[in-house]
Amino acid sequence: MEKAIPKILVPNTQARNFNLAGVHNEINPSLITLIKEGKLNPKPLMVCSGGTSTRCASENHWTLDLRDQYKSIKFDHSKNEVVIEAGVTMKELILKLSKEKRTFPIGLSGSTGIGYILTGGISPLSRSYGLAIDNIIDIKGVWGNGNIFKISKPNLKSSIDEKFLWRALCGAAPFLAIITSLRLKTQSKNSIYVWESVLNPMQLADLIIRAEDWPHYASLSWSWQKYIKVSAVFEIKDSKTAKGIDLLIDELPKTKGSKSYIISTLLDLPNLNYSDSGFSVERKKYSEVLGILGNKWGNKAYEVVNKLESLMNQRPDICCSISAQQLGGYTSTISKETTSFIHRDSVWKPWITASWEAEDHFSKNKSLEWLEEVWKSMEPICPGVHLAQLHHHLSWHKKETNAAFNDWMPTLQKLKSKYDPKGILPSI
Ligand SMILES: Cc1cc2nc3c(=O)[nH]c(=O)nc-3n(C[C@H](O)[C@H](O)[C@H](O)COP(=O)(O)OP(=O)(O)OC[C@H]3O[C@@H](n4cnc5c(N)ncnc54)[C@H](O)[C@@H]3O)c2cc1C
Repeated sequence: MEKAIPKILVPNTQARNFNLAGVHNEINPSLITLIKEGKLNPKPLMVCSGGTSTRCASENHWTLDLRDQYKSIKFDHSKNEVVIEAGVTMKELILKLSKEKRTFPIGLSGSTGIGYILTGGISPLSRSYGLAIDNIIDIKGVWGNGNIFKISKPNLKSSIDEKFLWRALCGAAPFLAIITSLRLKTQSKNSIYVWESVLNPMQLADLIIRAEDWPHYASLSWSWQKYIKVSAVFEIKDSKTAKGIDLLIDELPKTKGSKSYIISTLLDLPNLNYSDSGFSVERKKYSEVLGILGNKWGNKAYEVVNKLESLMNQRPDICCSISAQQLGGYTSTISKETTSFIHRDSVWKPWITASWEAEDHFSKNKSLEWLEEVWKSMEPICPGVHLAQLHHHLSWHKKETNAAFNDWMPTLQKLKSKYDPKGILPSI
């Protein structure tokens, strides 16, 4: 009888279809021995926490799937902190914290796992509470060299080496270690006022410029697919912010389909992506996403949006899209030396999604070329990269990694040679 080829049932449709060498479900002594002796072949080992990116698996590679065995969430009432294991999704984290009237700056989807936190973690609440990595207190895991570790956020007494290790793990962990658990700071949970609408390009440019002057409790996201869908999130911290929100809402474009309502957690945010094309987009489409970073657009917003309109008109697949999240606020007050997210002056994180029919290589190439063209046209205004997804299998992987880490790269490479000398984890 033929042996079944191992696959992994993950949210990412492309990763789901890879034929794997095999799957490990836990970090046990025999896996540690394979890692230490460099006998885990082929390398690198792919690590899966939420399984929402294409690189939680790879054709003919081993995946370490942490989703079943690493599910613990423990809330520490004395400190309002939470310890989560690596298989916890952001939805599970928020549901647990809600019971304690606490919250965490999760992103636009609850389906992501701790890969969201480890790669930076940009939330609609980041302008008030920082990136997800800014809220980590302790990290436990296994280095690529097989040694187990626990490390805490540095303080004044910490050595330079400790500070470097912390900085590396906060934003570049996938290259150095398998993270098994995180202790996180939590925030008081407040209701959130949401405004959503469909805008034309001129209205979008106007709103982008306006949002650049918004207070920290407000944040804009938009996604351009068939339509330009926008959503603005306003955290109702107290009666003063509630009044401020009323004034901001008054200034928003009065379009026909605009809606505003209050949600209890970010899990109830509207889905910005268009998916009413009459068939299950999920099942038939593959995609790759590139996140870029840049400062305020100001009046250049009109020129940028015009260019985006022409690029959107040329998109090779109906599901290709250009979207953006707002940063700035508290996120930019944190020193770029404390984490691997060095683009602290960023105000916008646009992300470009190339999409194509599954297994259609011609369309795949066309879509990826389009992604590169959009990237090139936005580079002058968004020179940074947010490495939320790894793309070792694509030609621009090196360029994107350099743009993510710039002058921090040589130190990361030194740490890689010490903590993952045999290249067990993805290369940097
Ligand atoms: C619907 C959706 C919405 C999103 N919204 C946002 C958003 O608002 N803000 C934002 O910043 N990002 C957002 N992202 C991007 C997302 O956060 C990243 O793609 C993230 O890497 C996904 O992590 P994961 O655990 O779900 O995926 P996985 O595919 O399991 O992991 C992603 C990467 O992280 C590495 N990794 C995972 N777990 C570990 C671990 N335990 N130890 C070491 N390395 C590990 C893996 O090597 C892998 O390459 C979104 C993605 C999706 C699909």
